[in-house]
Amino acid sequence: VNHVVVVGAGLAGLRTVEALRSRGFTGRVTMVGRERHRPYDRPPLSKAVLSGEADDSYVGADLAALDVEFWPGVSAKSLRKGVVETTEGELGYDGLVIATGADPIRLPGDGPQHVLRTLDDAHELRAMLVPGARVAIIGAGWIGAEVATAARRAGCAVTVIEAGPAPLATAVGAEIGARTVPWYDGIDLRLGAMVDSVDEGGVRLVGGAFVDAHVVVTGIGVRPAVEWLADADIDLHNGVVTDEHLRASLPGVVAVGDCAAWWSRRWQTRLRVEHWDSALNAPDVAAATLLGEDAVYDPVPYFWSEQFGHMVQYAGHHPAGERLVHRGGTEGGDTEGKAGQEGKWSAVWLTADDALAAVLAVDRPRDLVQGRRIIASGQRIDAKRLVDPEVSLRDC
Ligand code: FAD
Repeated sequence: VNHVVVVGAGLAGLRTVEALRSRGFTGRVTMVGRERHRPYDRPPLSKAVLSGEADDSYVGADLAALDVEFWPGVSAKSLRKGVVETTEGELGYDGLVIATGADPIRLPGDGPQHVLRTLDDAHELRAMLVPGARVAIIGAGWIGAEVATAARRAGCAVTVIEAGPAPLATAVGAEIGARTVPWYDGIDLRLGAMVDSVDEGGVRLVGGAFVDAHVVVTGIGVRPAVEWLADADIDLHNGVVTDEHLRASLPGVVAVGDCAAWWSRRWQTRLRVEHWDSALNAPDVAAATLLGEDAVYDPVPYFWSEQFGHMVQYAGHHPAGERLVHRGGTEGGDTEGKAGQEGKWSAVWLTADDALAAVLAVDRPRDLVQGRRIIASGQRIDAKRLVDPEVSLRDC
């Protein structure tokens, strides 16, 4: 391999460049990124940046020392074997890294609609979260919950509109999601409410009701940013399809991060996660694969969210679990910052043969760490001991 082209200058793209260099690759590396910014982390956008505690979240990487040609503000438009067509002309490659991440889904309607994916989005939205502003947030998923946290803290009048029966229902199921409802204290939480359109002055719901809002934020999920590959001879299915080495179907091409749907050895299924941890760690495997080494990406996926004063952490793959077991207080812990012992809880998903498939921990980081280890080991656990939150997971 002489020239590696990296499309997408997010965390996954940057980490792949770093991994190539640390594995001794001395050839040419070009990184193309649609945004004008150098690589930055996205998790702080809905946390420290939105709340005003930080202005940016740039990753501390020395692009000059990495000897990478960085093309900011340039998009890849199409791909054919050995050539990426960009908005600034063609780029030949003999190794290609697809790291284009994901783009937010928008709703129909002519009214102004904010999303939160980029640093620029975060700055724009932050300026609008002023005391008394009526803010309608569509979607009570991870992003919606974090934006609601920041908006409530900023003194806005917040409405959260969620089509499902509970917050986070799509991500972790309605039973777990329902336990977070008390966190929405002081917020007008509308569950089971479908949006018809985003109009001037607010949000029209199916059925005709109208939610007045100065600011509308849509947080209903993302789609892998792979439109530019539509005509390429490469397998796409919910992102770029890869094997366990993160190799795509076109020779010399790997995919990493939010856009990659990789084959999981552990769960014998294809996984695509939108997790910072994956953007951080998959690139080392992708770099090894590009350089002809034998590496496998087989993580226990990990994700966290900070919402309403709670640290919510998740590891594993719960669709592999058949039984949900709660550990600790079902009260939920209702007041921000005052989460007592009773506000800390976790839950685990067990497979049919009592192995751990996933763990979700609220302000119980030890459960997360131990649970993730147990999932990785495949060890069986005693479901009867699990329900006692005083018994540590590793002793179950
Ligand atoms: P991205 O970060 O999306 O980077 C891809 C880059 O490629 C983008 O800059 C994009 O503009 C560019 N691009 C796209 N198409 C093209 C093209 N055709 N040509 C050139 N460039 C292109 N995860 C957690 O685990 N915990 C959290 O708390 C958490 N919070 C989050 C909060 C927010 C607001 C957001 C948006 C995400 C959060 N995530 C969190 C998810 C995490 O940030 C992502 O999983 C991670 O950013 C994925 O990295 P990536 O490099 O794959 O994609």
